[in-house]
Amino acid sequence: MKKPYYIDFPQEHLEGQMHKYQCVYCKVETTAINGKLEGHLPTCEYRVKLEKVGYECDAKTASKAPVSADADDFD
Ligand SMILES: [Zn+2]
Repeated sequence: MKKPYYIDFPQEHLEGQMHKYQCVYCKVETTAINGKLEGHLPTCEYRVKLEKVGYECDAKTASKAPVSADADDFD
C-alpha cells in the first residue's frame, strides 16, 4: 500500500521562519520530507502510524526499480 505523496501529517511553523514548516512529530522540515514517508524520521509518530497500517516507504520499492536493467517492457 502506497500513497503518491504523504502530506497529511500535522505541520507547524519553524520558529522564526515565516514560510517554513516542519512535521509536528519529528521536526523535519517539509521541504526535506518532500512528501515522502521516509522523509520522516523512523521514530516519527506519523510515519510509525502509517507503516503500522500498511503504508510503505519509498526506500523499499526504490531498490527494485532500476532505471535500465529491467527489460520487462522490451518488445
Ligand atoms: Zn514526521
